[in-house]
Amino acid sequence: MNITGDHKYNYMFLFKSISGLQSHLAEVRGMSKAIGFVPTMGALHDGHTSLITRSIESGNYTVVSIYVNPTQFNESDDLAKYPRPISDDLVKLNRLGVDVVFLPTDEEIYPDGTQTAPDVPLGHLGNTLEAAFRPGHFEGVVQVMDRFLGIVRPDILFMGNKDLQQIAVVRKLIEFANFKCKLVGLPIIREPHGLARSSRNERLTPADREAAAVIYNTLMETYQKYHRFTFPQLKQAALDRLTTPPFRPEYFEFVRTDTLEILEARPDDAVPVSVVTAVWCRDVRLIDNMEMSGSE
Ligand code: AMP
Repeated sequence: MNITGDHKYNYMFLFKSISGLQSHLAEVRGMSKAIGFVPTMGALHDGHTSLITRSIESGNYTVVSIYVNPTQFNESDDLAKYPRPISDDLVKLNRLGVDVVFLPTDEEIYPDGTQTAPDVPLGHLGNTLEAAFRPGHFEGVVQVMDRFLGIVRPDILFMGNKDLQQIAVVRKLIEFANFKCKLVGLPIIREPHGLARSSRNERLTPADREAAAVIYNTLMETYQKYHRFTFPQLKQAALDRLTTPPFRPEYFEFVRTDTLEILEARPDDAVPVSVVTAVWCRDVRLIDNMEMSGSE
């Protein structure tokens, strides 16, 4: 094996099998570096890149997975339409200086089918917000993350705050299954006009994509007015603004940033508050959130 002085190979490894990945990682675990892991579903954009770059720049041996997990899609149409530009993704990952790409098949991840999953007690996280509108979604996330964390056994896991509830759910899994892994949540990366980066943005027409800035603008407006109005007033104004065809809001809620518990009224200043929202643009579902704490 060709290892340079700083314990880095000169090239990116690509594994499709768990056994190949694990025997490689066994060798890496003997080095001084921690293993940083960034799970993705591919169609990589700047949001993914920010997580990957953070892992690399923090000095971790960085593993990125690309796997479109069928069990977390509650709509078969969404799964079928999910973009899969794998060669472009691999070029991007190589340029970034990723150490390992893991590209498993469904058979590798679910050799015994998809019926078994750890029974993590999710509490309200399992039936509120995203869970309420995407039945089975977080069960699928728990199922695939349990597999990935068991296979990769990372020291640090990097995830995006764009999927705030997903982070809270994965934190529960880590505690429940006692994975020795630190979870780092990183800020939302946005397009120049404010729309949160997402692989699903590729399905919007250029005009819709431009108009989807309404989501960010509504979050910003709420942030600016946060202390001057009640939660019901802010919520109503936001829902009105987001109900502009072709947009249709599914929810817009104030929550505790750490627990995702829905708040009906402004809590004590010490409680971190975020707004979370899901908005349909025709047949594309977009989610976003913004921390309200810190607003004037
Ligand atoms: P996905 O490929 O959509 O499953 O996302 C893989 C990871 O990238 C997840 O941890 C997401 O939260 C994160 N991510 C997706 N979009 C963004 C974004 N716009 N900003 C920051 N992180 C993101």
